[in-house]
Amino acid sequence: MSQSQEFTFQTEIKQLLHILSHSLYQNREIALRELISNASDSLNKLRHLQLAEEQWRDENPLEVTLQPHKEARILVIQDNGVGLTQEELIQNLGTIAHSGSKEFFQNLVSSGKGDGSPDLSLIGQFGVGFYSAFMLADKVEVVTRSYRETTGWRWESDGSGRYSITAAGDEVPRGAQIRLHLKEELEEFLDPNRLKHIVRRYSTFVPFPILLEGAVLNEQKPIWVEPKSQVSDDQHNAFYQWLTHRTEEQPLWRLHLSSDSPIQFHAILYCPPTNFELLGFGENQHGLNLCAKRILVQDDCRDLLPDYLRFLYGVVDSADLPLNVSRETLQDHRLLPKLKKVLTRKVLDHLASLATEDAAAFQTFTRQFGSILRTGIGQDFENRERIAKLMRFQSTQTVGSGLELPESNEFRRTSLDEYLSRAAVGQEQIYYLAGTQVDAMSRHPHLEAFRKRGLEVLFLDDPVDEFALTQLRSFEGKDLISIDSADVRFPESTNPTVESEKPQAPGNFTRVLELFRGALDKRVADVRLSERLTDSTCCLVNSEGTMSSQLQKVLSTTMKGFEMSKRVFEVNPHARLTERLCELAGNPENDEFIRDCGRQLYSDALLLDGLIPDAEEVTNRSLRFMEELSRTRSVIVT
Ligand code: ADP
Repeated sequence: MSQSQEFTFQTEIKQLLHILSHSLYQNREIALRELISNASDSLNKLRHLQLAEEQWRDENPLEVTLQPHKEARILVIQDNGVGLTQEELIQNLGTIAHSGSKEFFQNLVSSGKGDGSPDLSLIGQFGVGFYSAFMLADKVEVVTRSYRETTGWRWESDGSGRYSITAAGDEVPRGAQIRLHLKEELEEFLDPNRLKHIVRRYSTFVPFPILLEGAVLNEQKPIWVEPKSQVSDDQHNAFYQWLTHRTEEQPLWRLHLSSDSPIQFHAILYCPPTNFELLGFGENQHGLNLCAKRILVQDDCRDLLPDYLRFLYGVVDSADLPLNVSRETLQDHRLLPKLKKVLTRKVLDHLASLATEDAAAFQTFTRQFGSILRTGIGQDFENRERIAKLMRFQSTQTVGSGLELPESNEFRRTSLDEYLSRAAVGQEQIYYLAGTQVDAMSRHPHLEAFRKRGLEVLFLDDPVDEFALTQLRSFEGKDLISIDSADVRFPESTNPTVESEKPQAPGNFTRVLELFRGALDKRVADVRLSERLTDSTCCLVNSEGTMSSQLQKVLSTTMKGFEMSKRVFEVNPHARLTERLCELAGNPENDEFIRDCGRQLYSDALLLDGLIPDAEEVTNRSLRFMEELSRTRSVIVT
C-alpha cells in the first residue's frame, strides 16, 4: 500500500472550518442534510450515466445508507454513486472553488453582526456542503472509489488545516462513505430515533431511498405529479422547506400546474414570503429543479423562468424531455423556451388573481418583489401589459384625503386599471410625477393645475417605476406622461366652464417675460406664460419629447457626460409677485431688479425639483435682497 500524502487546506477553508466547528447546537442537524444531499447528487450522476451508457448498469439499487457504530462513536453515510478519484478529492474537498460553500462563506462574512462575528443562524439556509461534517465530527474520513477506477482512496482530516490522502486498495466499494468520528458530546447522532427524525425533517424528498437498519426512512414522494387536490398544505410546506432550506417558513403562495398539451408537464412553484435581495444579499440565483419523468436533470435550471421571476422556487417535470439529456445538451433543448413561456404566463395570471382574491398576500408580494417584477416591463415585450397591470402606485387620490380604495389600509396604492376607472371624460393621458419622497411630491407646484381640474396624478417614488413606465409608453391606449412635460394635454371636459371669466394677464406682463428671458438666456429653452399654475409663481417644464427631470437626474448621476436638457420656465401671470413686477416694469429703472427676481425664481424652481442651483450666485443675490429690504425699514419706533 502506498504512503499517505499530506495536503494543506486553502486559507478560506481553514477559516470556514473554524467557524463550523464552533457552530451553534441547533445548526448541527443540517450537517446530515448536507451529506445526504451530496450522496443523492452523486447517485443522480450515476443514474444519468447508466441511462446513457450500458457499461455502467448493474443490478444494485441506488441508495444512501446510514450506519451508526455505537462503540467506536462513528456515524457512516454511504452511497453507491459515482465516487471520487484522488484528483477529485483534492479538487473538491480541499479548495473552496465550488459553488455552495464559496457563496455561503462570502455571505457569512458580509452578514456579520457588526462586531466582526458572522451570523451563524444563516448556515441552515445556505448550506455549506461537505465541510459541515466538521460541525459533528472531530475527525472525518472519506473512503471512496470512483466508478472509473478499480482501487479506492481514503481522505482524512481533523479539520485543523491539513488533510491526507492514502490509497485504499480494491476492497473499497464504488461510491463514497463519509465516516464521522463524532464529537464526544454528540453521541445522540448514533441514536436511530434521532436519525430517523432528522432525515424525515430535512431529507424526505431526496429522490433515493435513505436506509437505516434495513428500513427506508424517507418518503421520496414526487408530490408534483399527484393531482393538485391530493396534496396537503403540510406536504407543500415540507416540500418548500426542503427546496429552499428555509426550515421555519411557509411559502407566501404556491402554484401547482399540470398540462398534457401542447407540452406535457407537472410543476409546483413557490414564492417565499421575504426577498433576501432586499436584505443586501446578492441576486437570487437558485433556479428551478428540472426533472424528466421524476428524475432530476438539473437542480438549478435558470432557463425555465425569466430573470424578473428569479425569486421563485420549485420543480418542473416533463415527460417530453428525454431521460438521458445532460446538463450540457439541455441548454439547447427546444422544450425549455416553450416551458418558460407557459410558466411565465401562468405566474402572471396567478398574480393577477391573487390581487383580487388575497389582497394581503398580494400586498406583501408587491412590497417584497414588486421592484424585481417591474424590471420585466423592459425585458419581456410580450407580457409588459400584464406586468404593468400588477404595478401599484401612490397618487394624488391615495395620499391624504381622497377616494376610498378597495384595499383600505395603510398601504393604499392604485393600479393603472383603477386609475383609468377614475379618469376624466376624454382623458387621453395617464399623468405621473417622479421623485424620491411622496410627501414632497404631493406639494409640487406642477400639481396645481391637475388638482384644479380634478385629475389624478401617480407618484413614482422608485426610479425603477419611471424606467418601466417610460418603456411601456402607453397603457390601454393612453399615453403615460410625466407632468413636467410640455406634451401634457388636459381633457376639454376639465377646462374651466366659463372661458371668458379667466382674467387677462396684467399689463406689462410681456415686458416682464422679456426681462426674465434676457436674464436666463442660456439656462432655459424659453420663458412663457403658464396655464397650469394657480398659486405658485413659476415652475420648470420639460420641452416636448424630452425625458422627465427625475429620469434625467438619475441618468446624470449614473452616466458620464450626460447633459440635462434645457427646460421651459413658466410664469404664473396672476401670482402676487408677478402682478407687482408688472407694475414695476413701467419704470425702466426697475429692469435689473426684475431680472434678479427672475434669476432667483429660477433657482428656487430648481431647488423644488431637487436640483442644486449655483450656490454662490444664489446666496450673494439673497444677501443683496435682504440688504435692500432692510433699507426700506424704519429705525423709528412708532
Ligand atoms: P457542493 O455540493 O456545493 O458542490 P460540497 O462541499 O458539498 O459542495 O461538495 C464538494 C464536491 O465534492 C461536490 O461538488 C462533489 O463533486 C464532491 N462530493 C461531495 N460528496 C460526494 C459524494 N458523496 N460522492 C461523490 N462526490 C462527492
